[in-house]
Amino acid sequence: MRTYSTRKRILVTGGAGFLGSHLCERLLAEGHDVLCADNFFTGTKDNIAHLLHSPHFELIRHDVTFPLFVEVDEIYNLACPASPIHYQHDPVQTTKTSVHGAINMLGLAKRVKARILQASTSEVYGDPAVHPQTEDYWGNVNPIGIRSCYDEGKRCAETLFFDYHRQHKLRIKVARIFNTYGPRMHPNDGRVVSNFIVQALKGEPITIYGEGQQTRSFCYVDDLVDGLIRLMNSPDDFTGPVNLGNPGEFTILELAQKIIAKTGSKSEIVFQPLPADDPTQRKPDIALAKRILDWIPKVTLDDGLPRAIAYFRDVAA
Ligand code: NAD
Ligand code: UDP
Repeated sequence: MRTYSTRKRILVTGGAGFLGSHLCERLLAEGHDVLCADNFFTGTKDNIAHLLHSPHFELIRHDVTFPLFVEVDEIYNLACPASPIHYQHDPVQTTKTSVHGAINMLGLAKRVKARILQASTSEVYGDPAVHPQTEDYWGNVNPIGIRSCYDEGKRCAETLFFDYHRQHKLRIKVARIFNTYGPRMHPNDGRVVSNFIVQALKGEPITIYGEGQQTRSFCYVDDLVDGLIRLMNSPDDFTGPVNLGNPGEFTILELAQKIIAKTGSKSEIVFQPLPADDPTQRKPDIALAKRILDWIPKVTLDDGLPRAIAYFRDVAA
């Protein structure tokens, strides 16, 4: 049991989403007061329904593009649609969510002197020319393409975090999150792991974009949440940016084959056009996270996929 003095008041924006709901659950289990703020664009109350009974959990419907006045000790800023289909649905709102959302949450952190963590992304590296990606790589990002609302919005948010740090001495933490998967991903959000599992379970064709030779590294959600919490609790002079992801690298074709094998599906693989600016390779260098946070992911893709499959069997099959 935590006492009044050791229990922190923690705001999680985007807390009803995939990652946010797991984070809220963990923070609550650690004995903190958790305030979840979400506009339910891609998140759902179902993701946090099991937490609502707790007197230490609060939910507010709020859009981070508007200011928020609450008293908290820490802020995890996760609000932002993460799947290409959703962030491209209303690209202007996506940029606003990242940029205005960052300004509002940084303003809140400044007023209440809270520590604040930004959920940034491997997308800040764009289609990377450096492989694996290290934090000192500045990236290769198209500023005017269909992914730019997300990529440039997140890059601008990082800029704002570092300017608030330099200008106002805010205690900031920036996590560059690589592709993460697990239970509570939206079954229709278009991300590759959820798409392939749902297609495999339904016996529908598995849709590979391009030839399936592009690579990604997939981190299981529990590992990622552990990394975020370690980062928030790291010494004040460590701001990041720090890569959080699983360095295991797979082609999208390999992923499709694994999911077909693990679901025992009869689905065929079909090849569809590759979307514009789709990164050709992605793999985090996690030496910094290992050294400073003593963090390495524990769940391999072979161990994590069955857990995600079990979830989608319940909700989508
Ligand atoms: P998600 O879409 O499941 O969750 C995002 C949440 O933010 C949703 O609950 C959504 O309703 C909420 N939201 C969106 N716009 C909002 C707004 N204007 N105001 C308030 N709430 C808003 O996505 P996720 O995978 O859980 O991603 C969470 C965060 O992590 C995002 O910032 C994303 O960019 C980042 N991230 C995720 C991944 C990944 O692989 N999952 C990778 C890199 C970065
Ligand atoms: N992808 C695919 N089929 C799908 C969904 C995605 O081949 O049904 C590919 C996509 O083109 C990309 C990779 O899988 O190369 C990862 O896509 P996702 O949308 O999950 O994330 P991101 O591109 O942001 O890493």
